[in-house]
Amino acid sequence: MLAILHPDTPLDSDAYRHTLQFLENLPGVSVRVHEIQGAQQKLTEVYLLGDTKSLDKDEIAALPAVERVIRISDDYRILGRHRDDRRQTGFTYNGVHFDQDNLNVFAGLCAVDTPEHVEIMMRALAEHHQPCTRMGAYKPRTNPYSFQGHGKGCLPYVFEIAGKHGIRVIAMEITHESHIEEIDECLEKLGRPTGVMLQVGTRNTQNFELLKAIGRQKDYPVLLKRGFGITLNESLNAAEYLASEGNANVIFCLRGMKTEAGQPHRNMVDFAHVPTVKRLTRMPVCIDPSHSVGTRERAPDGIPEVMHATAQGVIAGANMVLVDFHPKPEKALVDGPQALVMDELPAYLEDVAQCHELWKKRRTLYQA
Ligand code: PEP
Ligand code: MN
Repeated sequence: MLAILHPDTPLDSDAYRHTLQFLENLPGVSVRVHEIQGAQQKLTEVYLLGDTKSLDKDEIAALPAVERVIRISDDYRILGRHRDDRRQTGFTYNGVHFDQDNLNVFAGLCAVDTPEHVEIMMRALAEHHQPCTRMGAYKPRTNPYSFQGHGKGCLPYVFEIAGKHGIRVIAMEITHESHIEEIDECLEKLGRPTGVMLQVGTRNTQNFELLKAIGRQKDYPVLLKRGFGITLNESLNAAEYLASEGNANVIFCLRGMKTEAGQPHRNMVDFAHVPTVKRLTRMPVCIDPSHSVGTRERAPDGIPEVMHATAQGVIAGANMVLVDFHPKPEKALVDGPQALVMDELPAYLEDVAQCHELWKKRRTLYQA
């Protein structure tokens, strides 16, 4: 059961103390408090866990600090959608808003290689008024002898160039909890010229200790990739791990599933699950067409297959696109074959915008 308190209830008020005291003394029930800082107000949610079936909803709703009470199911308690659940979706981070209705594109380098390429990429994004990008510094690689990313060594120039071009959010995968500190220290030292969204890669979707460590901090939102060989339910539970530790600013990313049946694509495109994830949870949903399709080949209609897959996801209501671009894909140290080139950026962004508008129009057909 979930008790949502009146917005901005002070934690030192009598109403709060009285309410918490009552809830904490319910037999067989444990209490977990979550605070959500919105743009205008602070919301406090009190989760009642354990033996809650016999609890009287009206009695709890009548407590002085309680605004309303929702009975929640066991699955995805915090991030899920429950009956009579009118809680908000999404969050704002470093001036950029993310929710289940809007759309942000994160075009950028799969892996940071040189400052020149970072500069070309970010300058192009700034020219198109894009506040977000992707930049890999820590790369999980199949082969131990492959390039593993420049690590913390590249962070200063990546963050500085981002700040210069007004980039506000960089999606950056981390593979160990120590990377959070490396990123945080570097940003702090530079006066926080930009922001970072911590990315959990598909190989780490069920790295529970990493998830717990990332969930314990609230400074950075999280982009969680779906595990490429596990069920959707298992991946959504992985997202819930982050929230259960305290960080509910989570975006869920579909990136294709590993199966021979997906060939000649790198992974089987799973973007039909965009609306499904939005129905089951309150998370904004991201698609990664680059790691799904795995090639920059064009179809006979002249449209890159990566863009065709993007269109499928965005027309279905995706809220974020994570896509590989590179100024010189033949020189890229990771995933060159799937990176689109800079000349393709304007058409790509326009196509994404048109698909998003079409999704909004499609939605009105069913809202009558
Ligand atoms: C990536 O986005 O660079 C990446 C490694 O993706 P995934 O974890 O989905 O393979
Ligand atoms: Mn990659």
